[in-house]
Amino acid sequence: SIVYPLPGGLARGEPVYLRVHSLASTPIPLSIEPLELVHRNDLAHVTWRTSVLSMMAMLVLLSLGLWVGIGERSYQYLALTLAAQSVYLLCIGGEIRAWPWLADRFSEDLRAIRFFTLLGALASSNFVAYYLSLRQQQPRLARVLRVCNVAMVALMAVSVVSDADIISLLGNIVLLVTMPGLFVAGVIGVWRRQREAYFVLLSWTPMVTVTVLRVGELQRWWPFTLWMEYWIPLCCVMSGLVLMTGVTYRIQQLRRDRDRANELATFDRLTGALARTAVEERLAAQIALATRHGRPLSVVFFDIDHFKRINDHHGHRMGDQALRIVVKRARNRLRADDLLGRYGGDELIALLPDTDGIRAEAVAEHLREAVNCRPLSVDGTTLSLSLSLGVAEWMPGESAEHLIERADAALYASKSAGRDRVTRHCPTTPQMEGAMT
Ligand code: GH3
Ligand code: MG
Repeated sequence: SIVYPLPGGLARGEPVYLRVHSLASTPIPLSIEPLELVHRNDLAHVTWRTSVLSMMAMLVLLSLGLWVGIGERSYQYLALTLAAQSVYLLCIGGEIRAWPWLADRFSEDLRAIRFFTLLGALASSNFVAYYLSLRQQQPRLARVLRVCNVAMVALMAVSVVSDADIISLLGNIVLLVTMPGLFVAGVIGVWRRQREAYFVLLSWTPMVTVTVLRVGELQRWWPFTLWMEYWIPLCCVMSGLVLMTGVTYRIQQLRRDRDRANELATFDRLTGALARTAVEERLAAQIALATRHGRPLSVVFFDIDHFKRINDHHGHRMGDQALRIVVKRARNRLRADDLLGRYGGDELIALLPDTDGIRAEAVAEHLREAVNCRPLSVDGTTLSLSLSLGVAEWMPGESAEHLIERADAALYASKSAGRDRVTRHCPTTPQMEGAMT
């Protein structure tokens, strides 16, 4: 608004003559208002602009902080995109005049305007490409966008030293390919039900809507409204918020996938016991602890007797169920600190920290009883199962492989002696210690 002071004031009914000459081809509403109303509107305008620009600044800082903190590259591109939008808002809103040096550069110097427009486009293009994993999902489109990116970087470099009109022309051509390209990437992503693409399109929707409304106004398809200029910055904020939520959502998703992969690698799917590699890792860790604290450590290696018969007589599915029940029964007989793993097939292993060979032998006996004390009931069929077990106590300096080998040898001795029994490997003599039945 422009304020003309009337030193003598204005009496009621006194006319004011004002000649307005508009060079713009677009219609601009004009009204004459009392100073008080002008002040009030100005205040509202400043409040609104300050809020929106502060929100933009917050989003930029937040994205930068998250990028530095988490190291997720999407946040870096998002921060750059939002920063470029903020500069644009400061320019069209006039706030940039608070810094005359900057205002000169941005309103007068074509080079700066072109540079930052290209930078903003480059940042959003990189954001979308990275966020939607275009390289893997839509390789052809990704290649086109990459060529555009290279062109934009080249034009930015040239625009630092030159303000030739050709830069503007080439820049617009590149933007005319990039922007629809990004939109197509979003639409294809949604078509393929890629979750991230929903966020991208959702963030663009308010912006596209407002732009269409604005074009309609300029074309006089509908009446001109003043509030439109307030909607554009709000749309920038909304779009930034949606994208930020989207990036956070994706990080959450990646984390969940990683946890799931870890879980699959750590636990045996059928029984829920530790998988073999996890058993080996835990055993190595237990040996390190036992070495450091001078504490005992034992393992019980066991195998179901004649398990193949269960599969042969009752089918594989029943065998699976039986295996699950055996693991459950064994688990219930162990302490919380003990670890139970499936070493392969019907071979199981229990790691017993802080337990010497004699106590481990008693634990093994409990495990044996837990399985053969009463028949297993699987789908209405009762099955009688028994375990053969081998116990070995870790000797200082002994490797994990050697310890398992000794427990396996003890297990083999139990099998040879007639199954359904516990044998402890005695390190001092090559013989096994008394098998218990
Ligand atoms: P032994 O007393 O000598 O141990 O006799 P066994 O029949 O148990 O023989 P062994 O331990 O060598 O064979 C294990 C059998 O366990 C072989 C296979 O049929 C069965 N098995 C291994 N893994 C699975 C599994 O995941 N599910 C089922 N249902 N059976 C399995
Ligand atoms: Mg077996």
